[in-house]
Amino acid sequence: MAERTACVTGASRGIGREIALALSRDGLKIVVASNERENNDKVVEEIRAAGGEAIAVYLDLAQADSIREAFQEALTACGRIDVLVNNAGITKDALSMRMKPEDWNLVLQINLSGAFLCAQQVIPGMMRERWGRIVNISSVVGLMGNIGQANYVASKAGLIGLTKTLALELASRNITVNAVAPGFIETDMTRVLPEEIKQKMLARIPLARMGQPADVAAAVRFLVSDAASYITGQVLSVNGGMYM
Ligand code: NAP
Repeated sequence: MAERTACVTGASRGIGREIALALSRDGLKIVVASNERENNDKVVEEIRAAGGEAIAVYLDLAQADSIREAFQEALTACGRIDVLVNNAGITKDALSMRMKPEDWNLVLQINLSGAFLCAQQVIPGMMRERWGRIVNISSVVGLMGNIGQANYVASKAGLIGLTKTLALELASRNITVNAVAPGFIETDMTRVLPEEIKQKMLARIPLARMGQPADVAAAVRFLVSDAASYITGQVLSVNGGMYM
């Protein structure tokens, strides 16, 4: 097969950036997709400087039109997208009794509806090629629940249901769909947490350290590789043993 192309959403920072760099090292062409231009473009430059191929597209996952336009641009530039990593995500934490309806909606829109709409953009091409890989980045809290994160947890649990349904719908076309559920990973998302919360989380991790973005990228790399061609509809936890 000719060179494969992977689109990674939320690739401008954190886990997504690491996934984009890792897949590029594996020889895939990367569509670096996020909202904010400066960091997004830096990742494209990093990939090119290391000898890889990448293009940037900008999209707001809260807007269906923006998703459609970005994928059209990517498909025009690259011909097809063989691998989609739905990685972008946000948190807007509050206890349920105080959570604002707009914060509930925004998190569901970006984390869950956004991922679904991205998948819809790439599925027709994958079906034509009779090959494809979709990896949805869920979370340990999507499996176990978490106080103060009803919106985020619902979105991450929803991604697991979406993963299993897409896996069933697309298996006959040789498209695998899996989820990765990271635990507590060192990125901007967790950097803002108070020290006391971090210590509490650490105490619950048998491997006694926070995960690194590279730990998650390694799981994604495996799931999109040919070695994982018989794995679909699964949730791969990368959490240091925090939840079993
Ligand atoms: P992060 O450092 O906060 O990065 C989030 C990424 O999502 C950024 O690239 C951001 O792009 C993008 N994004 C946010 N809103 C967007 C929107 N409306 N449209 C397009 N892109 C948008 O997060 P992270 O920690 O790397 O997390 C990556 C994924 O892993 C998320 O889905 C998160 O829920 C999941 N996860 C993280 C952890 C953890 O401990 N860190 C644990 C479990 C699961 P901009 O730069 O353009 O804002």
